[in-house]
Amino acid sequence: MSYSAPLAAIASAMKYGTSLVPFVEQGLFGELGIQDIDAVVAEAGRFAAQVIAPLNRVGDTFGTPFKNGVVTTAPGWKEAYRAWRLAGWNAVTAPAEWGGQALPQIVNAACTEMWHAASIGFANGPMLTMAAIDALNAHGSDALKRAYLEKLVSGEWTGTMQLTEPQAGSDVGALRTRAERAADGSYRIKGQKIFITYGEHDFTENIIHFILARLPDAPPGTRGISLFLVPKFLLNADGSLGTRNDVRAHSVEHKLGIHGSPTCTMILGDDGGATGFLIGEENAGMACMFTMMNRARLAVGLQGVGVAECATQQALAYARQRRQGRATGVTSSQSAAIIAHPDVRRMLLTMRALTQAARVICYATALAIDRSERGDDEAARSDAHRQASLLTPIAKAFSTDIGNEVTSLGIQVHGGMGYIEETGAAQLFRDARIAAIYEGTNGIQAIDLVTRKLLLADGATVAAHLNELRDVIRSLDASNDPGFGWTAVRLGDAVESLERTTNWLLARLAKEPDTALAGASPYLRLFGLATGGCLLAKEALAAMRLGEDATARLALTRFFAENLAVGAGALERTVIEAAPGVIGGDAALAAP
Ligand SMILES: Cc1cc2nc3c(=O)[nH]c(=O)nc-3n(C[C@H](O)[C@H](O)[C@H](O)COP(=O)(O)OP(=O)(O)OC[C@H]3O[C@@H](n4cnc5c(N)ncnc54)[C@H](O)[C@@H]3O)c2cc1C
Repeated sequence: MSYSAPLAAIASAMKYGTSLVPFVEQGLFGELGIQDIDAVVAEAGRFAAQVIAPLNRVGDTFGTPFKNGVVTTAPGWKEAYRAWRLAGWNAVTAPAEWGGQALPQIVNAACTEMWHAASIGFANGPMLTMAAIDALNAHGSDALKRAYLEKLVSGEWTGTMQLTEPQAGSDVGALRTRAERAADGSYRIKGQKIFITYGEHDFTENIIHFILARLPDAPPGTRGISLFLVPKFLLNADGSLGTRNDVRAHSVEHKLGIHGSPTCTMILGDDGGATGFLIGEENAGMACMFTMMNRARLAVGLQGVGVAECATQQALAYARQRRQGRATGVTSSQSAAIIAHPDVRRMLLTMRALTQAARVICYATALAIDRSERGDDEAARSDAHRQASLLTPIAKAFSTDIGNEVTSLGIQVHGGMGYIEETGAAQLFRDARIAAIYEGTNGIQAIDLVTRKLLLADGATVAAHLNELRDVIRSLDASNDPGFGWTAVRLGDAVESLERTTNWLLARLAKEPDTALAGASPYLRLFGLATGGCLLAKEALAAMRLGEDATARLALTRFFAENLAVGAGALERTVIEAAPGVIGGDAALAAP
């Protein structure tokens, strides 16, 4: 599958769409300069395009055959993983003391986007290893860190994240996997987990499972969940691989997409109990898991961006070479490339604009995480942490929603050939679909945004975000560039819609929670459109200020504002006026 790393779009989003440059200049990342960042991203792009992307189709067709407890990954995947980890890509943000490179999250965000653009099925295993490293580093005991972190950081071993059970999906608190205290301080774990990404594979000798389970005396719900590290192979005293632990894959799912990624049902404790080691405190597992999930949520958002980018590249290339019909106003009898037709151009522009908007939102989220970890002032770190928390559900849900839309448009641009597997457009569409479901469905993200994130710092975090968006509108007004057309007005309207809707929701959350929840998903979309549009404008304005040729960025921003952000007003009305019809929708759901 052809993919070339969109280095110019990535650099523009990072440097101009976010405030990366001033933070680099202020020394947020020590000696690291913009050129260093560009060099790392370029090298990651080369690896993604040249090594991973060519393997995407074989992963789709080969799948992950499962026999006698063993998963075989597609030809070439094991070797590519080895080359990938030996090049240090698993360790980009990991702490230096465990062999990591301690590079910024925003750098890893760009790399992650490209790994997923090249192949979601390949990249979503390592994505969970990186999340596991974060959780272990933040919450694990020194002994556990010493035993496991270095090999997880190098990618010699991989990690899994195991929450889901048949009766416990979105409702994690319903999980039943049991953990009992053993005399030696470890735990014996018994239960069943489903849908576990890379629960079994042939990339590495050992797999380190991060498993949520419940102690016998635990309180009900999420307050009674603990996190355990359960290795596939237990370790000998010298760190070498010891006996096989009582955890195994029972089967591998047959899925709509990401066929190269093994999704496993896991059985724990068939033979007396899997040995597990507590991470953090007993019954405090959800807090530890949230460290893992927040990073993974941003990474899943980047799956949406990556797959959308790949679909856009393919559709553009196809639209330039496929000839059908006459272009309007052209007298020649020769048929035109379909890119000449306004409706096809609209599809391509929509694809490109949504992709770049989602990209900037994800990178802005990553930069907020960097500032929350590296800022030298405690108050600034806390503010940045809240900003990252506010943006994470948008990064995850908006980006994966547009991943579905853009890959669907990708098929449409290809016409009938898009529906035929050979073009690859269909695979992108199938692969993209899962990202709106796992790591908390997009519906759950919207609920998180409305019921928790809007309340951060008593509403001050979202108020600060709205102020930032208004600053962009003021700069647009001041720029007075005719090339922006109606951009300032349309984005200004979108930001006002976002502000009114935010205030409306905040006023209803306590007294009418159902009314607020009924509008959560359209509100998240409105948030994404207003934010994405303003960040695109920020990117174009910054490029213009620096005297760069900003023609393309300006045109894309204008397209987004005039064609996509105009939906904000309708979304406002959906949230504010239409909730009663949703809550009392029983009549509409009944058969006529
Ligand atoms: C390919 C794949 C890989 C996966 N990898 C992993 C993994 O590695 N580790 C892991 O632990 N899990 C994994 N999962 C599981 C995944 O995270 C869950 O499928 C997801 O969280 C949704 O849970 P569910 O499937 O039970 O859906 P449900 O929770 O049954 O949800 C069904 C629908 O109801 C909605 N809904 C549910 N509850 C509410 C509510 N309270 N309010 C409003 N709407 C609600 C949802 O948004 C959704 O639309 C994976 C799943 C797949 C398919």
